[in-house]
Amino acid sequence: MQGRRAGRQEGDDGPFRPLLPSCLSAFLPFSLSPFPPGAAQPLYPARRFPAVQYVSGKLLTEEGFVSGHLGFEDGIIREVGKGPRRDALAKGLVLPLMFNAHTHLGDSFLRRRFRGFRGERSIPALFAPPSGFKHRELRRASRRALVGGIRNALLEMRRTGTGGFCDFREGGLPGLAAMNDARCGTGLRGIVMGRPAGLGYDREEVDALLKVCDGIAVSAITDWEYPELQKLASHALGAGKLFSLHASEVFRESIDKVLDLRPSFLVHLTKAEEFDYERVAVAGIPVAVCPAANAFFGLRPRIDLMRRFGIDVALGTDNGMISPPRMLAAVQAGWEISRQGGLRPMEMLRCALTGFRKILNVPGGISFKEGAPADLFVVDDPGMYRARDPAAALVARCGAAAVSLASSRSGVWKER
Ligand SMILES: [Zn+2]
Repeated sequence: MQGRRAGRQEGDDGPFRPLLPSCLSAFLPFSLSPFPPGAAQPLYPARRFPAVQYVSGKLLTEEGFVSGHLGFEDGIIREVGKGPRRDALAKGLVLPLMFNAHTHLGDSFLRRRFRGFRGERSIPALFAPPSGFKHRELRRASRRALVGGIRNALLEMRRTGTGGFCDFREGGLPGLAAMNDARCGTGLRGIVMGRPAGLGYDREEVDALLKVCDGIAVSAITDWEYPELQKLASHALGAGKLFSLHASEVFRESIDKVLDLRPSFLVHLTKAEEFDYERVAVAGIPVAVCPAANAFFGLRPRIDLMRRFGIDVALGTDNGMISPPRMLAAVQAGWEISRQGGLRPMEMLRCALTGFRKILNVPGGISFKEGAPADLFVVDDPGMYRARDPAAALVARCGAAAVSLASSRSGVWKER
């Protein structure tokens, strides 16, 4: 896939182009229109440039996919109808935008460089602060490379069906500033978690961090002196912000110590055991899992087991240098390791679509309603579309599926 796109920057807008808001389309020349020009067309025919644009096919609901269409204008859903529409901008499986619950976009610029890396490819060697491969590279990276990598990753997310993300930013205050610069104008909803530059607690530094981020997130209890971590967690939570950390990723950690920090949510739990899941479920702590990135290290999160214990599970893509921020790849990876455990396709999709809502305190299920934001994307795959159970076909093969259109508050992106 990368090879076929030689010559492009990774994460650029690829074969997609932004479409201007439909209200403007009536004033545009043909070259900027989403519709192909016809020889005998007048310049601005209302029939060709409707105020409301449509997507059509099968719409995802709580009960699965149902035949229908959606009309939207200026980023707002104006019409939810039954049956297909011939004049739709895109046709296929129509889903709400996903939320990427766990990223480290700061190392996205290392994706290409990492492919040629011949050193030890273990999690400690690559990611442990302060001397893992990633942290060494981040220290010597130019700000331009860092910001460019984050921005390209965000644009990649936007055109592949993701509307929001939660990023763990390294590098203290400068790291947060790089993220805030990169995401400016992308229209994505970002929950940005900062962390101190070093592995110690400093009240003034944390005060400064919390002014420009949504909370504090650290690597793991193992990397910190526990009393320092307690001060850090209390400070963040006391300020009304989020606190989170990776837990039991490579080996099992004390769930009591982790939960005593009162985290807003946890990441991974790949090496946790049933006792730990039970404790996390009773504490009502959501967990973000990253099955595609975990697979790189031979790890597998027990999504089916977590769900059986009643844990709210959200999907993420983790480190940008290992795993592109494509949520559909995470869905397929999650499905491949969870279907044997009895997870149902709709449950898998919910992890990607609504799993993070508990953390954000946003209620509601999967539905398209008139008057709601037109945050949606269309998967154009005839095989999935015609399948007897499109949700099952989608989770089984969506990793390489084409997203033919993505709409959010920042505009509409359509495959050329
Ligand atoms: Zn992580």
